[in-house]
Amino acid sequence: MKYLDYALSFVAPHHCLSCNEEGFICCQKCLEEVMDKSSGKTCYKCNQKCKDLGICGRCKPKQSLDSIAWYSDYKNTLSSDLVKALKFDNTYAATKPMSSAISTISRISSIKNIIVSPVPTAGRRARKRGWDQSYLISKGFAKKEGLRFKSLLIRTSSFDQIGSTKQQRSEASKKFFIAHRKALINGDAIILIDDVTTTGSTLNSAAKVLKDAGAKEVHGLVFARQFLNLN
Ligand SMILES: [Zn+2]
Ligand SMILES: [Zn+2]
Repeated sequence: MKYLDYALSFVAPHHCLSCNEEGFICCQKCLEEVMDKSSGKTCYKCNQKCKDLGICGRCKPKQSLDSIAWYSDYKNTLSSDLVKALKFDNTYAATKPMSSAISTISRISSIKNIIVSPVPTAGRRARKRGWDQSYLISKGFAKKEGLRFKSLLIRTSSFDQIGSTKQQRSEASKKFFIAHRKALINGDAIILIDDVTTTGSTLNSAAKVLKDAGAKEVHGLVFARQFLNLN
């Protein structure tokens, strides 16, 4: 299907979802416009201002993630359109801007022994679609940056996050993952990639599984953050 998408792009070239410019599903200018400049500067748990790791000093001791960054706010139409394109339309073209967006916030020069790994999408849904969007984005990112890529987690349960409460999400995410290829993880820094996150609890529980399996550091990178409406 990837090749079909590629072949079709010559017949019917992509247009930027935002400004309609011909050539790409999302042009560089529009991609830059949706970048959330405050990402990393507010704590993902408590929303307080923090230095640049996305986790404040107070929350850090209780978190398995060493840092978390998100490129954009999901409420931006372009961000959500890209996520939906990748998820529902089988548009492999969406992988490229999303991988490159993640590259710009990755801080990889300060991390050693990196393995890039996706947060796997719930098995049944990904199987039904035939592809896993986090897998595509993380593979694209690893290739672009010349980093090792390994799928280190297996999803053990499927739980639809959309429409569920914060507590349900956090309960369900506790039993989401198991690590495989444990021998490959030892002492490495894992960059975990997901397309969308809301509370970050799924990423954090994935990080815990990887740390229990021997990871030295775990950093979360997400294309879009869906902020919960607290009002
Ligand atoms: Zn554009
Ligand atoms: Zn905090």
